[in-house]
Amino acid sequence: MSLSKRAKEVSPSATLQITATANRMVREGKDVIAFGAGEPDFDTPDVIKGAAIKAIQDGFTKYTPTSGIPELKEAISKKLKKDNRLDYPASSIIVSCGAKHSLYNVLQVLVEKGVEVLIPVPFWVSYPEMVKLAGGKAVFVRTSVKDDFKINPKTLEKYFTKKTKILILNSPSNPCGVVYRRDELEAIADFCVKHNIICISDEIYEKIIFDGIEHVSIASLSDRMKKLTVTVNGFSKSYSMTGWRLGYLAAEPEIVGAVSNLQDHSTSNPVSFAQKAALSAFTLGDDFFKNIAKKFQERRDVIISRLDKMKGRLGYKKPEGAFYIFCDISKTRMDSFTFAKRLLEERQVALIPGAPFGCDDYVRLSFATSMEKINKGFDRIEEWVAKL
Ligand code: PMP
Ligand code: GLU
Repeated sequence: MSLSKRAKEVSPSATLQITATANRMVREGKDVIAFGAGEPDFDTPDVIKGAAIKAIQDGFTKYTPTSGIPELKEAISKKLKKDNRLDYPASSIIVSCGAKHSLYNVLQVLVEKGVEVLIPVPFWVSYPEMVKLAGGKAVFVRTSVKDDFKINPKTLEKYFTKKTKILILNSPSNPCGVVYRRDELEAIADFCVKHNIICISDEIYEKIIFDGIEHVSIASLSDRMKKLTVTVNGFSKSYSMTGWRLGYLAAEPEIVGAVSNLQDHSTSNPVSFAQKAALSAFTLGDDFFKNIAKKFQERRDVIISRLDKMKGRLGYKKPEGAFYIFCDISKTRMDSFTFAKRLLEERQVALIPGAPFGCDDYVRLSFATSMEKINKGFDRIEEWVAKL
């Protein structure tokens, strides 16, 4: 048997693999502290669960339109207007089986051989693989800690060629919690408009944002930029619905039409009753998000105070959003896989190596876990790192 070239080229997801290994160790009774999880640790709210149960009991269990039920698309359209100052009619929205699905599909319809896609480093592990699967070339835009891991037009110009068609932007970002400010986005938008670059804006962590910082959608900056943007979002992180597989994108009609055709012939609609459940999620008010962001911020602050106590042995940049901290391990003189493997074997603490995010001298810790586990995990890390 011979696999296709593209199947051979794609690598497994480090985030999903390591999380699965840590979970297995916990099930086996091992005292593992897991900082790997890329999902909120709180339960899906009852109102959402109840709506799904009711939908099943009402028999809402058949195919729906591929792009989602009209009432959910209307609700997303209203949300985009209220939260993001974006005017997308329901017809410009496609509901999918997760933000990952929307990102994959939009890259499939926009990328072909020879197309270059700008990806700021560090990046979420799936972006380069998705670009590869679409036949394109991922071009990694290096950033520095000095620039807070942020891209700007000057750096982007260095990587721009005649083949550049797309920029993937992720704010708040996974893995380093970077949040772009309005003026920084305006500068990036100018670059996109100047070169006619499509911006795929992954806003999945928009509600997990700290220190009162405002989330700005790049598409809201001008009509021209909106035409060039594909806004991607979903229910996984905001509502702790990772397992429900529900996301969406909003874009210009041409892109939406192509993605809809692709979904028609691949997944069809996202799960019918999960869509009804997602509709009920919009009844949760701003206090719901404030509460969650506050909890994550408290955890971030504890982690930072623990790292500060370690006298610079592990470096970091303070995350402003999402629920990850990206730690510089260069002083340990280990590569990120060795660091993660040894820490798991020697102290039963699981975290994700930085290499799959494009930075081999970093590791990613998720703080989607309890304060108790954070402190216990850091007791172990502190003691282990001090002995290295
Ligand atoms: N984008 C980023 C940056 C992520 O970290 C994730 C992780 N799940 C996703 C997209 C995909 O989310 P979903 O569960 O909606 O597919
Ligand atoms: N996005 C999460 C993470 O980065 C979940 C796992 C995944 O989909 O990659 O850990």
